[in-house]
Amino acid sequence: MNLILLGPPGAGKGTQAKRLEEAHGLKQLSTGDMLRAAIAAGTEVGKKAKPIMERGDLVPDEVVIAAVAERIAQPDCKNGVIFDGFPRTVAQAEALDKLLAARKSQLDAVIELKVNDEALLARVANRAKETVAAGGTVRDDDKPETVKNRLEVYRRTTAPLIDYYRAKGKLKTVDGMASVDEVSKQIEAALSPFLKAKGWKPKWLTQWL
Ligand code: AMP
Repeated sequence: MNLILLGPPGAGKGTQAKRLEEAHGLKQLSTGDMLRAAIAAGTEVGKKAKPIMERGDLVPDEVVIAAVAERIAQPDCKNGVIFDGFPRTVAQAEALDKLLAARKSQLDAVIELKVNDEALLARVANRAKETVAAGGTVRDDDKPETVKNRLEVYRRTTAPLIDYYRAKGKLKTVDGMASVDEVSKQIEAALSPFLKAKGWKPKWLTQWL
């Protein structure tokens, strides 16, 4: 099963992706994490991406698409992938369709985490505060000015994907403002037809079968 989690920065994509990874044996593929790893490793991609990410702008499509193409070919992606933070442009979405088709695979569902912008800014500010309190370092792009730009970039460039996937009949919308558990529940409900079709059973059931 291949899924996309779609939503602005701070919508909770990463949290939900980790839960789905655990529950269904899928692999979370976060292009943001991949790019941060490239920066930390000092690769050419990392050097190119660093100033762009610090501004909260998007790294060029061809860079991100090449990284995803390489990553999904690895064995740990064979059960399926949760795309977190990818695609972010229509060009990336079209490239993903082609990449999956070339692997005789397909996209099953796109989960949109619907949130409101003000609550989101507060949430990201809180994430920064908690990180500092825990003795960690705040991500450069979690600074308030950059978050505003990231939201604008999302509205302008990524939000059109909502209509793109709705037109393909793939879109499932959940309330991203609900509690983490409630959002998980809504996602499981949205995915249940796909899970049933693939013969998946919840852990609590498999131990009795
Ligand atoms: P994230 O951790 O998903 O919020 O991503 C952090 C930053 O990495 C974004 O603000 C972009 O600069 C860059 N980035 C991550 N994923 C993509 C993508 N699919 N396309 C372009 N840029 C990306």
